[in-house]
Amino acid sequence: MSNVIRSLESERSQSRRPARAVALNPTLDRLLDLCRMNRTWKRGEGVWLFDESDRRFLDCWSQYGAVSLGHNAPPVVAALRAALDEGQPAMVQPYRAPNAVALAEALIRIAPAGLDRCVLLSTGAEAVEAAIKLVRSRTGRSVILTADGSFHGKTMGALAATGQPQHSEGFGPTPPGFERVAFGDVHALAARLARSPDVAALLLEPIQGERGVHLPSPGYLRAARELCERHDVLLVLDEVQTGLGRTGKLFACEDSGVTPDVLLLGKSLGGGLLPLAAVLTSTRCWDERFALRHSSTFANNNLASRVGLAVLDQLTPAFCAEVERKGRYVSTRLEAMACRHPGVIAAVRGRGLLCAIELGRGGKDDGLFLSYLRHQGLYGFVVASTIAEVASVLVAPTLGNSNVLRFAPPLTITDSELRLALDGIESTLGRLSAGCVPIVRALLAAEGADSASARDVTTDRPAIVPASGLELKGRAKYVFLAHPTSRKDIVSTDPHMADLSPDEFERFLAFTAQMPFGAAVRCPPIVSRTGTVAEGLIFVLPALPEQMLRMGRARVRGEIIRAVDLAASLGATVVGLGAYTTPFSRRGRDVVGRGVTITTGNSLTAGMAFEATRRVVTHQGRSLRRSQVAVVGARGSVGSLCARLAAREQPSRLVLVGNAMHAEALENLALQLCDFCEVEVSLDVSRVSGCEVIIAATSAARPALTGVPIRSGAIVCDVARPFDAPPELRARGDVTVIDGGLVELPERSARFGVGNLQGLPDGIQLPCLSETILLALEGESQDHGIGDDPPLEQVDGVLDYAKRHGFHLADPIAEECQLARRAS
Ligand code: PMP
Repeated sequence: MSNVIRSLESERSQSRRPARAVALNPTLDRLLDLCRMNRTWKRGEGVWLFDESDRRFLDCWSQYGAVSLGHNAPPVVAALRAALDEGQPAMVQPYRAPNAVALAEALIRIAPAGLDRCVLLSTGAEAVEAAIKLVRSRTGRSVILTADGSFHGKTMGALAATGQPQHSEGFGPTPPGFERVAFGDVHALAARLARSPDVAALLLEPIQGERGVHLPSPGYLRAARELCERHDVLLVLDEVQTGLGRTGKLFACEDSGVTPDVLLLGKSLGGGLLPLAAVLTSTRCWDERFALRHSSTFANNNLASRVGLAVLDQLTPAFCAEVERKGRYVSTRLEAMACRHPGVIAAVRGRGLLCAIELGRGGKDDGLFLSYLRHQGLYGFVVASTIAEVASVLVAPTLGNSNVLRFAPPLTITDSELRLALDGIESTLGRLSAGCVPIVRALLAAEGADSASARDVTTDRPAIVPASGLELKGRAKYVFLAHPTSRKDIVSTDPHMADLSPDEFERFLAFTAQMPFGAAVRCPPIVSRTGTVAEGLIFVLPALPEQMLRMGRARVRGEIIRAVDLAASLGATVVGLGAYTTPFSRRGRDVVGRGVTITTGNSLTAGMAFEATRRVVTHQGRSLRRSQVAVVGARGSVGSLCARLAAREQPSRLVLVGNAMHAEALENLALQLCDFCEVEVSLDVSRVSGCEVIIAATSAARPALTGVPIRSGAIVCDVARPFDAPPELRARGDVTVIDGGLVELPERSARFGVGNLQGLPDGIQLPCLSETILLALEGESQDHGIGDDPPLEQVDGVLDYAKRHGFHLADPIAEECQLARRAS
């Protein structure tokens, strides 16, 4: 194994390329890379964006809807050019900026009647902050009521107003004085307003864009307006996203005939070129203390205001009517699309050209890759990137729900461009009902010169946070860390992968190996015989053992630590280390003491393997006491436990096989066991040829028993993953090979994802995962199987737990039987 590490490490240093230096938020950059949303745009013209190779894409995302007149819209560019050519100064505060004065007047002219004061600012969040100060100052009250699921921006006050807690988590306390009510619920609003008279304002979006484009029921805004009036509470409408024509009206509130006390605008006011936002309010709400004390260096920008004026010039009634007409066409098309592809599209929503395609949540037939992407909240991003690659159409998930793709093209989009975009989206989504292969192919095709496979596994990985909503409930909660140990494993957990060509498969492996540990499987609940239910998640590092070796010990160790901490934060009480996560965490030593019980699963692995061996020996009418038993890999922790268990049976001879590096440790073990039986240490694996019973438990990357002469009639228990017994040994009719001691769970139909992790039959599991579940059921606080020499008592202990909870040794399953069972 150490040779393998050395050779791979030298290979790695040869293939390493300098990582791209990214100063501008490299973490985000890396995530975009991973989802293949890393295109660089060279040119923008109307609804089209052109990448570096001059390939053009239809922009139906338009920067959160901000590019409403298209990229570099001629009237906007002309206004900007004219202002520059005339030599107009851009920044003259606190002197009067003529274009800002004109823009304020123009906004008041088109705004709902009664709004006759204006404050100009730069961003949507700043407009929200200003509105909060204005209404508090005006009313002398502090509470701002907002809606669950709302989005108002990412500055501290706007975050406090935002009804999506995931955006403020980890940033410390947000300002006090904000309360939330359910969006669209008139009764809840009435009850809150009746409760106490401390509410300054109700702040609402007419349509919740970032939550995933959710419209309230038809009468809601009007009822909210009436309630506000009854309780003398101001109504603030945040139309940063919905305003200025996006929904087919100048303002979305027009549809319900509601005039707010304060109206917020942003995004498209800047013409897709400059930051510009506005707060419009009435004389009744105007407050002089606010007016004199709220300011910002970049407010009242003369140049940006000139752009804003050019934008408003375009927003004629005819223009808005066109948006409304196009919106009706989009809705009809999206509804038909949802009917035709019900598995891929869960719902469609929208008004005007602010629309949403909510993707299906998938099901139990999702292979591991899709399941992993969904749990990390990456599914919407890779679907968007597939649509971009396949159809050259750009859409992206909303900020509050990554499973919802927003369709918000420039309002200037033509009918034929709309048709092109919707045809492209439909044909791409249509392909997704046949599994993940179209996504994989698109991701691979989108690899640029600076591709993932070129970087392979040598660059930093983004710490992807699992999508919110991922948690563990109940009394016995566990997380099991796993990774594929072979290419065959990948296909058994993702049968669609068999459709990839060998070259695609290799490139896919290089792609996924960049991804960090993430939740991939929600385990079926396991009900113990005692009635306790264990709930778990499987976190997967999508990398093969050889790729983990290439990443290097430090990186993998860091990944494992991060996964353990993530498991603890989700409420797990036990974390099981599967496959190579055991050696990479120095048999658990690197991850103990982090607030969760750690197990390598080695105790039950050794216990069940030995139990299975004993059962086959007895079944064949033989006895361990009269057999020569060899343990290959006797220095490993499972191997040494198996050797101790074998010695207790007093075989006629016990042969401990290991490699030269561990000769001394093997000698020590032999000394401990020689009271029970005759013990021999050998550094030569061919020494097993004389033994009737062989337990193989190495952690070699290749089958350790390859080419080893094994006597006819021998019983081989292969505990190693990857296997120690090569296919030719398994094919021999005169040798019995069993795959360790698998466990039959009390839940006979339990399947852990498609393929049950390693293609095992339903209800059968690996002992290391079974031990993790058992420790969770027991509420065990002692770490298990840590280090090179875990105590034998822990084996006896977990075998007792197994009995108590109804976990049994499965019939020893030779690989041929497994295949036969799977086929049937
Ligand atoms: N309010 C709403 C309704 C929004 O959609 C957004 C942006 N998505 C904001 C406020 C914040 O705007 P900005 O990003 O310009 O601060």
